[in-house]
Amino acid sequence: MIKLVRGFKDVLPAETALWQHVEAMIRELLENFGFAELRIPALEHTELFARSIGADTDIVEKEMYTFTDRSGDSLTLRPEATASVVRAYIEHGLYAKSPVCKLYTIGPMFRRERPQKGRYRQFYQVNAEVFGLHDPRADAEVILLLMTFMDRLELSGIKLHINSLGCPECRPRFKDALKSFLAGCSEQLCSDCLRRRDGNPLRIFDCKVPACKEAMQDAPSILDHLCNACQRHFYTVQSALERFHISYETDHSLVRGLDYYTRTTFEVLAEGLGAQDAVAGGGRYDGLVKGLGGPDQPAVGFAIGLDRLMELLVGRAQGFEKRPHIFIAALGPRAQDEAFQWVQDFRMQNVRVEMDFEDRSLKAQMRRANKLQASYVLIVGDRELEDGAAVLRNMNTKDQENVSVQDLVNVVVKK
Ligand code: AMP
Repeated sequence: MIKLVRGFKDVLPAETALWQHVEAMIRELLENFGFAELRIPALEHTELFARSIGADTDIVEKEMYTFTDRSGDSLTLRPEATASVVRAYIEHGLYAKSPVCKLYTIGPMFRRERPQKGRYRQFYQVNAEVFGLHDPRADAEVILLLMTFMDRLELSGIKLHINSLGCPECRPRFKDALKSFLAGCSEQLCSDCLRRRDGNPLRIFDCKVPACKEAMQDAPSILDHLCNACQRHFYTVQSALERFHISYETDHSLVRGLDYYTRTTFEVLAEGLGAQDAVAGGGRYDGLVKGLGGPDQPAVGFAIGLDRLMELLVGRAQGFEKRPHIFIAALGPRAQDEAFQWVQDFRMQNVRVEMDFEDRSLKAQMRRANKLQASYVLIVGDRELEDGAAVLRNMNTKDQENVSVQDLVNVVVKK
């Protein structure tokens, strides 16, 4: 038998109702905050990711699903959505249509990471991106949206971490300070970090190797190196969060795994997920639109990891399964034939209805209705057809009543 590819997974019907519910909640919230949906392809030119995410990030170095198309082009299954959203924003001139543009997208991402609990090679994200706003309240607003969503899901043990990565003016100064500090850590750093030390030392904050983590405990903090404008920006973000009673922790080691961030970065962590405890993350990326050949437009956004979120909601799936409103237990060929018509009539009235085509005993059909957890069962045989009245049984109360066959759909729809 051919099995799933390692690191990939199926989402089965018992879980998809919850996925749909969660997706509907976030869509509603995003739309309340002024976001419109953008649908982007899963495949892009490799260069898009190499240029935006950064050449010496884990994603670009070792995690992308890249292949050469028959035409000779190098293509990649998207490892994240922001680069594609920015590409679409530039390509379709969305910046010219409105000074502020808020876009969201929901879909699968692909990264060839080592599979483990909460880490898959295809995983789903909700992405939200705001273009055109320098104001720090825009950063606060996307965090507020994210935390409102977490709140509505009634999740406990959720923590928000925030940081500022500075701007092209102050970050180089911090990089120098960090490089001087790292010069004294050659013994402790892993080979990847030694390689990254000169070009991209901030990345070392992300390394999971225990010796590197320990070495970084005494590293200088970027928050002590911010220029005045970045300090003010970060302060305003924090005040706005406080105003809306959003608790947060500042975490100067929160650099996030992608190169394009400037100023605010944030991550939402959840208890109970084990080592992969980040459910969402994001930040500001003021240079990316221009860097990818677009106008000089600031941007801020986030990504929510739906797979991990669903792991937090495990156990709630049951309440969301779509059960039939009615099961029609039709006995005998004539009743079966009538019922086949009624099923269609009910469905045209948006009633969820099921029947068996096998003309089995009443007992067998009731068993199936129970299994499907139908709210009502409509029982009809030759005699009922002759009398012009079928039996409607409420499966919760076990009450039964006769309903006229003539007016069946209307009567039942009213219920
Ligand atoms: P990132 O794009 O790395 O900032 O990730 C944003 C969110 O996507 C994370 O907080 C996770 O919830 C989720 N995520 C990232 N990588 C994976 C993965 N390999 N498997 C499952 N979820 C992931």
